[in-house]
Formats: sequence, structure tokens, C-alpha cells
Amino acid sequence: MIRKPLLITFLSVVAAVLLSGCTVVESFQPTVTETPSPTFTSSPPPPTPTPTATKIPYYAKATVFSGDLQVPILIYHRFIPDFDGETTSMKMQYSEFKRELQALYDAGFSLISLKSWIDGTFIVPEGRKPLIITMDDAWFADQIFINEDGTPSEYSAIGIMWRFANEHPDFGFHAALFAIMGDKFYGDVFLESYQRFIVSEGTAWKDKLGNTMVWALENGIEVGNHTFLHPRLSEIKNNSDIQYQLSQNDIYARTFLERVGRSDLFEKMDNIIALPEGRWPATQSGRDVILNYINPEGKPVMAVMEAYNMDAVQFTPSYFSSDFNPYAIPRITASPFFVNYIVENRDLIPTALTCELGPMDEEKSKDQTSLSIVIKNAIETGLCPEGVYHVNGFIFYVENENLTVHATPTGEIAISENTQTPAP
Ligand SMILES: [Zn+2]
Repeated sequence: MIRKPLLITFLSVVAAVLLSGCTVVESFQPTVTETPSPTFTSSPPPPTPTPTATKIPYYAKATVFSGDLQVPILIYHRFIPDFDGETTSMKMQYSEFKRELQALYDAGFSLISLKSWIDGTFIVPEGRKPLIITMDDAWFADQIFINEDGTPSEYSAIGIMWRFANEHPDFGFHAALFAIMGDKFYGDVFLESYQRFIVSEGTAWKDKLGNTMVWALENGIEVGNHTFLHPRLSEIKNNSDIQYQLSQNDIYARTFLERVGRSDLFEKMDNIIALPEGRWPATQSGRDVILNYINPEGKPVMAVMEAYNMDAVQFTPSYFSSDFNPYAIPRITASPFFVNYIVENRDLIPTALTCELGPMDEEKSKDQTSLSIVIKNAIETGLCPEGVYHVNGFIFYVENENLTVHATPTGEIAISENTQTPAP
């Protein structure tokens, strides 16, 4: 815990270096004189004076996450206008949702995608903390509804988030929706005077839902599987019924994209399963059906989301944490109480720091080995902490003086073989 003061000292040193760097740069600025009017002679132009090379030291800027890497993952369900009742764990007033976004933003949180947390590529702007928002039981129009002009409605949670992100760009715009395809129609018409969505006659709702899914997938909303009919998996006796709940949901979801001519988006559908009520099947063979489930595109399960209700709160460890298990990801039921809890306990969530690495040759700043060396130096000299380093497209992880490359600028991610056994 001597790291913090050292880091601050380091940052002030860097600030001093940068300031002096600025002075050097300024002294190279040519004195502004009158712009010479063009002359049409054949005489060669006077040689441009080259400034004598005083090399400005180059520092590579890294975003660093250090300490206990964990994130709050919130589950929301439905949303209601304020006149429609009180906020409960299943239905939240739009005004309360807005208040929560503001409170989380003010506490320093910024949204990241669920996938980036699972594969360890997450990043937030300097000084911000990661946060994940998920919504279960999709698709409801109060969760996401696209207006005729192509923007998400302010009477839907995604629309509220969209507006908030436009006003606070450093908050970001990410959410993961877990869909139950088999238990409802989708409200395709908004009645302004009632502030309510209704299902019109015929199959218009299917086209509307298909187009809504297109908007979601094209705007960074992640879409996962919450089973076809939301049964308690713990009470299903037959494994083939568990398999049906997963595959039927995926197959049916794809028919909506197909009917609006967008089967190209199948690839963007994630194989992430959210267990209804967070309950696992009762038997190991039943649990294996979940863990071995392959989606229609042949992708294996990337993660399994659990749920904790009003009696427990748990932050989710990161890919880099020893207790990370992508097949048992805890989530927190969003409520005024738990959002306030997260705000009050924000210091438990890492803040993105900036570390200036170097000085180094600028030409070598995109070279893996050179970056590894400056990172190790910064840590050895106590200028920067161990942890996750994002620098020039690379992600490095340093723990116990051991540096590994997690991702490269070409998008290669070194996902280690996960051998952990899932939760019971
Ligand atoms: Zn649910």
C-alpha cells in the first residue's frame, strides 16, 4: 500500500516532464511573421531551417487496472411509468432508473460490455470504474422500443440509457439482454396518451420485434439466452427438456431476424445463458446440458449468468482473478437499495489509472517486447502498480512480477483453457 503515494509522486514527475516538454515544443514554434504573398520568380525558395534535434522523451500511455479486479453486474427486468405503481425488484419506475444511472455515473462508473468482462478486454476512461447492466426476460417494449425515426424511445430503458450516454459520453452505452422468446408477444405500438405499449392485430409485432433486435445487435446491445419459457431448471426432470429450453429459444429468436432479412446477424447472438431465477438443474447431468450447450452457429457456451436476490450482494471477479468462473457469474438484482450499496462501496471497484511508460523510443512503442520492458521497469521502480495494462492496442497482465500478454492489436486474445468446475 505504499504504491499509491509512489504513483502520485510519479505522476507529478511525469507532469513536470510533460510541462518542460511543452516548453521545448513551444520554443520550436516559428515566430509568426507576415504571410509572404506569392511571388512568381524562378529563384528557389529559401531553405527551411531545421530545428536542432533535442529529442523529446517519449512515454507510452497505459490505462491500468490494479488491486481487486471486480465489477458490479446489475439485473433489471421491466420498467413502468411512475403512475403505474411503485418500484419493485421486477418492475422499476422510469424515474428511478434515471436516478440510478445518474447516481452510478456520479460515483465514477462507466458501462462496459459483458463480453469484454468475460474475455478480459474491458476498459473504461481514466478515472472511471467498470459497471455492467443486464436485463432479463426480454423482449419487452418497456425495455427497448425503437421509434419511427430510428432512435430508442424514452419510454424504454434502453432509450433512457441511450439519452444518458449522449449527454455523458464517458458513461458509455452497453447492455446485455437475456431473452425469453416463447412466453409473450412484443408491444409494437406506443400509445402516447397512456404511455403504454400494446400489441396490434396480426403479425405486425413480429416484424417490429425483428427490427428491434436488428437495432439492438447493430448498436452494441448483447443478446443472450434466458430459455424459451423460463421454467425453474431445478425442477425439470428430463435433460432433453433442458436442452429444448435452450435450443428452441435460440432457434425461435433467429426466425425474427430472418423475417426482416437479417440472418447475417445470427453471428452476433451470444451463447451466454442466464439461468431463470439463477437456478441450476438439480442433477450433474442436467447441469452438463447447460455447460455443453452449443448454439445454432456452433458456438460453445461462453458464460452462465446466475442471480442473487434481495438477500445477497456479490461483485463479480474478473478474468484475471483466481476465483473467476465464467460458468457461474453472480449478478445483483437492481433496486434502489442495491444501487445505493454499490455507490457506497464504489472503492471496492478498481478505477482506471493512467501510467506513463518510458522514456522509450517512439518507434518501439508498438513493439511487444519493448512495451513489456518499460512496464516491468515501471513496476520494479515502484512508479506503477501490478495489474492489467492497456497500451497501444496490447493488453498485458502483471502479477507477482510475472508479465503475460493477454491481447494484441490484431485482436488476438489469449484466453486460457478454463478448467474450473461450475457452481453446483
Ligand atoms: Zn427471468
